[in-house]
Amino acid sequence: MDTVVVGAGPVGLTAAMLLAREGHRVTVLDRDPGAPEGGPQEAWDAWERPGANQFRHPHILLPAAYRTLADELPETVTELTALGGVPCNLLAGAWELDAIGGRRPGDERFAMMIARRPVIEAALTAVAARTPRLTVRRDTAVSALLTGRERVPGRPHVTGVLTRGGDTLHADLVVDAGGRNSPVGRMLRDLGAPGPVEERAGTGFLAYTRYFRSADGRLPKWPVWRVTHYDTVTTVAIEGDAGTWAVSLGVSGSDRALRALREPGAWHRAAALFPDIAHLTEAGEPMSGIMAMSGMEARHRQFVADGRPVATGLLSIGDAWATTNPLFGLGMSMGALHVTLLRDLLRAEGTGDPEKLALRFDEATRASLSPMQQGLAEWDRHRLAEIDAALRDVPAPYETGDRDWHFKRALDTAKLRDPELLRAFADSGTLLATAEEVFTDPALAEKAAELGRKAPHSSDPGPSRPELLAALAGPAERAAPVPDRAGCHLRGVRHPGGQGDSARPCAPRRPA
Ligand SMILES: Cc1cc2nc3c(=O)[nH]c(=O)nc-3n(C[C@H](O)[C@H](O)[C@H](O)COP(=O)(O)OP(=O)(O)OC[C@H]3O[C@@H](n4cnc5c(N)ncnc54)[C@H](O)[C@@H]3O)c2cc1C
Repeated sequence: MDTVVVGAGPVGLTAAMLLAREGHRVTVLDRDPGAPEGGPQEAWDAWERPGANQFRHPHILLPAAYRTLADELPETVTELTALGGVPCNLLAGAWELDAIGGRRPGDERFAMMIARRPVIEAALTAVAARTPRLTVRRDTAVSALLTGRERVPGRPHVTGVLTRGGDTLHADLVVDAGGRNSPVGRMLRDLGAPGPVEERAGTGFLAYTRYFRSADGRLPKWPVWRVTHYDTVTTVAIEGDAGTWAVSLGVSGSDRALRALREPGAWHRAAALFPDIAHLTEAGEPMSGIMAMSGMEARHRQFVADGRPVATGLLSIGDAWATTNPLFGLGMSMGALHVTLLRDLLRAEGTGDPEKLALRFDEATRASLSPMQQGLAEWDRHRLAEIDAALRDVPAPYETGDRDWHFKRALDTAKLRDPELLRAFADSGTLLATAEEVFTDPALAEKAAELGRKAPHSSDPGPSRPELLAALAGPAERAAPVPDRAGCHLRGVRHPGGQGDSARPCAPRRPA
């Protein structure tokens, strides 16, 4: 069976490797060039990836993504480790807390890996290159879909792709792994087809991120938990390979005052106010400018309308199907689950009945992944409303009739205060299990609600809004070592309403 995969991002490459191992002849096409010669540092410095705006933003392989690679494609983990990826455990920081009481049997399910995304992609690319029946063609943009005899009246049957260079590739199946801005919907509409129905949340989040590197290749003391929600800011700390790490300040897309975080001095003054991450911004040398990312809202594309697939011979996976709030770092995990679902379905059904295949894939996706994606999108909606309320000076806590939101907030608050709740939070929060699977015992849910209600959300509430705004308005230049020594500056930063943009970081200085 011939399969074409559009997009050589993490999900496209993982799908291609799994399908090639099933016996498919797979060709992956990507519009961007391949990795430059050299190792991880060259991948970070020089890999041109305009097709993936988030390429140099922090990425972590959370347990579901890591486990898929470790179980299904163990060579990728070996390769990533050889390139400097660091195995670790999501709960490791929390094990130190008295209330948690150390490691427990079963915690190995929270194993995961840290590495900068260019390094993750370099590892996947290297293994893909050694995979029989798999060809990856870079610098090869797909410009249109080829079609054949319709299998569903009025809906195109995709039989391959046309590249911008004029090549035609025929396939039994085209897999769309073109990412959050996948062009495939537009290509379907170019054929006169309806294309997928896209839902996206209104404003979404923005993140302002800076990368750092330690002088000795070691990481500073790491926060017990990587994501903390303060009043109007969410802080995220993500480690990378080679003694690098990233600190992000996530804000509501409608919070115009905090757009000042683009300016390095303002970013540092603000970051210094947040207890979990303040030390991380002083512990190393900045190796990027402030990278802004917008368009971080949850999106979802529906490929079956009125009971009929929008196309046959074509299946969309990963971000091309749906995205979640990047502050949770779950995109590659969701993508990994989607890829195994695709592989299992193809194993069971083949491509002989394209209509049935499209409907079954949609059904399976809706049954297993949509509830998680929608749950995360709902969380975003409430979090943005909570921030809006804080901006309007509505006394906290934010009120809503949605008990699910209150429960999730309580669980988030209680997770570091009870060992069982920590595991329940980690299982349900990283897609290892659904909330229904985790909370079969009502006593556990009651404990979460009770503990979460009693405890303040954070042991240190962080800055008040006036303190935060005062820090942003402080002196424009910061005395400490700063950025942009290489004369780099932000490019292409747009704000919501755009497609979701990132500023390319400064090229980091090579270590001496
Ligand atoms: C700021 C940010 C931080 C994130 N952090 C994390 C994290 O910590 N952990 C995590 O798991 N996820 C994270 N994510 C989500 C993660 O980036 C995505 O879920 C993941 O990249 C999806 O992979 P993909 O292969 O589906 O799509 P992409 O990685 O977007 O890849 C799509 C590919 O398609 C190619 N392409 C597009 N159009 C064409 C065309 N016409 N022809 C050929 N090729 C084409 C592109 O060049 C690209 O290589 C983050 C996202 C953002 C925005």
